[in-house]
Amino acid sequence: MTPKYRITRLNTAAPYEPKAKILIVYTGGTLGMVKDRTGSLISVGFHEIIERLPEINTLNLDLTVISFPTTIDSSNVKIENWQDVGYIIKENYHQYEAFVVLHGTDTMAYTAAALSFMLQGCNKPVIVTGAQLPIGARRTDARANVISALELASAHDGNHEPLVPEVAVYFDSKLFRGNRVQKIRSSQFDAFNSENYPALAVVGTEIEYNRSAVLPWIPQDTLRFQWKFDTNVAFLKIFPSMSDAYVDAILNIPNLKGVVMETYGSGNAPTVKWFLDRLENAIKKGITVVNVTQCLGGTVIHGRYATSSELEKIGVVSGYDMTSEAAMVKLMFLLGNQKSTDLVRKMLQVPLCGEMTII
Ligand code: ASP
Repeated sequence: MTPKYRITRLNTAAPYEPKAKILIVYTGGTLGMVKDRTGSLISVGFHEIIERLPEINTLNLDLTVISFPTTIDSSNVKIENWQDVGYIIKENYHQYEAFVVLHGTDTMAYTAAALSFMLQGCNKPVIVTGAQLPIGARRTDARANVISALELASAHDGNHEPLVPEVAVYFDSKLFRGNRVQKIRSSQFDAFNSENYPALAVVGTEIEYNRSAVLPWIPQDTLRFQWKFDTNVAFLKIFPSMSDAYVDAILNIPNLKGVVMETYGSGNAPTVKWFLDRLENAIKKGITVVNVTQCLGGTVIHGRYATSSELEKIGVVSGYDMTSEAAMVKLMFLLGNQKSTDLVRKMLQVPLCGEMTII
């Protein structure tokens, strides 16, 4: 774990009793970038963000910011970075009421899914956000995203119950479950969507919470921090006329333990013998193959078509309506934390923290 974080305290609350004590974890991303001499975007420190965010002083919050020692473009995010963020939250869990993670958009869906699996039993808000335009840009979305994320993180009902006690992603007026989102647009402000699960809150002139969609608050729950991931995994995206050389190259990766197979429609793949034989051999060798759809919405239903019955017969596991991002992170997480292949295959088909709906 990275030991040298930069810590900044910002009390926006004086002279009132603060509404909430919130820890911000700043990892990097476009939100905190400026243009260098060549015109390329590079990361800056949190103090430069704060200078451009005067609205933060109106929030009446007790804020602490922990910055990565070197902030990163999220395209460079690795498991170690997920572990760092998870570890910071775990170490500070009892001192803060909520957490806001500032992160690049490119791999935000992966990090949010990873946090949801790492922080099981979490009954406090962990809101991940970022921006499509740097905080210094004239039409930036960064200010609105950060301020709304802080408001959502600090929101309680009359009984001091947090309104969003789970890992979520806030972007462009919508709050989504962290392990349900996908980045679907690279240049519009509404970059994220959660096709298979409703928004947890919508921010307009008022904030509308969809409380029946939010995970229940269980005050007596205790945080179970699990931080291991196994990287011996691969995606196998099916496409018409894919060659055996392509499939072999993936299934013969040394030490491969798991594959997220992205199939057509409701989980369909070619039934040609060479392909099924190779998959079956891989599964028999102990490689776990989980099936998710290439479609943005909908679910895998093994057996709906003959083309998916074959997959089920040879031991391919259904990923139901998980996103590819959540399926990959869950697979890495289960392979990292469970010794038995059978258990990994079983747990892939059970929701751990709202990442899938079984039909
Ligand atoms: N490349 C950037 C990142 O993911 C994009 C962004 O933040 O929007 O860090």
